[in-house]
Amino acid sequence: MIAEIIMNSSVKNLDRTFDYSIPHDMEEKIHIGSRVLVKFGNIKELKEGFVVNIKEKSDFEVKEISKVEEKDFIDKAKVSLAKWMAERYFCNVSECIKLMLPPGTGTNNLANRAKEKTARFIRLIKSIDEIEAEIENKILKSEKQIRALRALEKIDEIPSKELEEIADVTSAVLKTLEKNGYIEFYEQATERNPFLHKVVAATQNLELTDEQKNAYIAVENAIDDMMNSEFLLFGVTGSGKTEVYLQLIEKVLSEGKTSVMLVPEISLTPQTVDRFISRFGQEKIAVLHSKLSVGERYDQWYKIKNGDAKIVIGARSAMFAPVNDLGLIIIDEEHDTSYKSESTPRYNVKDVARYLAKEYSVPIVFGSATPDMDTYFRAQNGDIELLELTKRANNASLPNIEIVDMREELKNGNRTSISMNLYESIKQNIANKKQTILFLNRRGYSTFIMCRDCGYVAKCKYCNIALTYHSKENRLRCHYCGYEVLPFNNCPECNSKSIKYSGSGTQKLEEEINKIFPSASTIRMDVDTITKKNSHEDILNRFKNENIDILIGTQMVVKGHHFPNVTLVGVIFADGSLNIDDYRANERTFQILTQVAGRAGRDKDKGNVIIQTYNPDNLAIEYSKEQNYKVFYDTEIKIRKALKYPPFCDIILIGFSSENENNVVNSAKFIYKSLKDKIINNKLKIILYKPVPAPVDKIKNKVRWRVIIKCKFDDEIIKALNDSMQELSSINYKNVKSVIELNPTNMM
Ligand code: ADP
Ligand code: ZN
Ligand code: ZN
Repeated sequence: MIAEIIMNSSVKNLDRTFDYSIPHDMEEKIHIGSRVLVKFGNIKELKEGFVVNIKEKSDFEVKEISKVEEKDFIDKAKVSLAKWMAERYFCNVSECIKLMLPPGTGTNNLANRAKEKTARFIRLIKSIDEIEAEIENKILKSEKQIRALRALEKIDEIPSKELEEIADVTSAVLKTLEKNGYIEFYEQATERNPFLHKVVAATQNLELTDEQKNAYIAVENAIDDMMNSEFLLFGVTGSGKTEVYLQLIEKVLSEGKTSVMLVPEISLTPQTVDRFISRFGQEKIAVLHSKLSVGERYDQWYKIKNGDAKIVIGARSAMFAPVNDLGLIIIDEEHDTSYKSESTPRYNVKDVARYLAKEYSVPIVFGSATPDMDTYFRAQNGDIELLELTKRANNASLPNIEIVDMREELKNGNRTSISMNLYESIKQNIANKKQTILFLNRRGYSTFIMCRDCGYVAKCKYCNIALTYHSKENRLRCHYCGYEVLPFNNCPECNSKSIKYSGSGTQKLEEEINKIFPSASTIRMDVDTITKKNSHEDILNRFKNENIDILIGTQMVVKGHHFPNVTLVGVIFADGSLNIDDYRANERTFQILTQVAGRAGRDKDKGNVIIQTYNPDNLAIEYSKEQNYKVFYDTEIKIRKALKYPPFCDIILIGFSSENENNVVNSAKFIYKSLKDKIINNKLKIILYKPVPAPVDKIKNKVRWRVIIKCKFDDEIIKALNDSMQELSSINYKNVKSVIELNPTNMM
């Protein structure tokens, strides 16, 4: 038999199969998805590859496979998925296969791979009766030795370190016991358990509201009928979407199948996981996210592979977990941008979920209070069944929202970042011993430095984006490449002294708040205060448990937390996400304002939200006041249609970067010309834009250009793009990196 093998490599030319014959003694062990070692070219050491197909014979003279990994890694369905992804996301099949391997084992370097962790265990080798008799007859007298043996009598398997603790003896005592033939040591795998020592009180199913019940039944039917239908659980913040997920997962569990639930990376906090542990216990749950160590992730992966974990909760990459008996996929906060990968393979996990749902005939539930416009559009078209939760589940009412025009504040002589209105509300909230969240769509002390006389803005010389002032280090810093300079007093262009530290960051805001409300306690959460492994969690826990008056933060405060005592949310500068260079600026702004408003008044007391803006007429800001997604959607979708943006078409971005500007520009121009010819010759229905510098036209000294295409993504366009890239590579502009991205979430 012949195996078609793809080498474990990201080199473009190696994205093809090579035939190798399967030696007889390996026939049993090798199947599609196996990892093998082969002789490749003239390279001396063996190279790793993945078996992607098996066939009768080859047209070539072939070498034999040298070695095969004993363990199973991926199955046939995943190999097909990898092939499908490679085509769609313009990368190597092996790069996609790597997403599906046990964490920490993708590298070609065998010595650097993650492995099982083993520990020294201990067990009795004399019978309990014999030991007790020896104690009785005073043959065994040492108190310590007796303590250790008696502790061991009660337990089957225990690491020797743990026994030392329990029996309060030293390792020397255990050694003596071994020498005298009472016990023996042995090595055994141990699980690196991220939930260790965690105690969570059990919870019961809640009685579902009518709306929740309708949603539940619709999905339950699809599970029963093994339909791969898609559902959008469109529920306002706090409407009890999670309770619906919990009960659906229970249903799937009762059939012995596994559920995969994806949540945004940032909201994958212990709080979230606790809700699932409290219902199902930790034995059945596996979590997969980047905050775990590689070893922990490796063990969680095998917990799934072995079928011990029936509930997988994780960030984007958890969709590739080795589930054999998939029963349900849930994607919570489905509008979140972390579901799209920003590095190769640049996949969108919602597409991957659809592929797998079809493969396994299972339903997908997308959940959100502010759905991605693409998802809602598909719900409108009937491709997705819409399930609505219009009320908060615990009878809490939605908050009051007020918009404040900051231009008026300035006119009235208020030069602070806090409007009179927000000032009064915070004051009252503090007096009432309630908590406040202040949200700012930025980070750092001050966004940028500008000369008020000539308009000069201090920018990074490598990235061409504004430098941010950090007061603690007294430095101007680039958030792209880390470049730093000392701030200056005179304008480098016109020498004027009118340098303005424009905008306001979280750090400056905290200082301002401490000045205005000297007796209030504050805590700040942004990328600068989140540094340690758990500090995101620590800050939220301190805010809640120490009843701190005001939490000041960026994006991170927005995501699905539940603070019963928060009754006021102030949005300091709503416009931050309006000024991004992206067709989704309105959508993002609406989402973020609705999500942050949803943090207010989630319990008995009514919540208040004050949104400060310089653009009160912007439709995203206007409609967020009513928290009316549908009206926002109806207005925005017309704009999308008129301007031919998704969901009415797909966008493909072809990006080039290099330190050699000429080569970048020439590459972009070449692709443009090549595609233009194909449009004419093959009558391709695509809109092709002229090559332009990217909005951030330099990063780390690399010049960036791009060509943008609007089209309906299909086989024809895939072929055209691959052909054009092939032509480009034959010209060989040196040191130019290229990426092709389908529907990017970040247009920078
Ligand atoms: P969402 O996921 O939509 O933001 P949650 O599931 O977090 O909403 O629910 C918000 C609050 O309402 C939680 O405290 C939850 O325990 C409560 N809740 C959810 N469903 C019910 C129900 N059927 N009856 C009573 N309380 C509920
Ligand atoms: Zn100047
Ligand atoms: Zn820079």
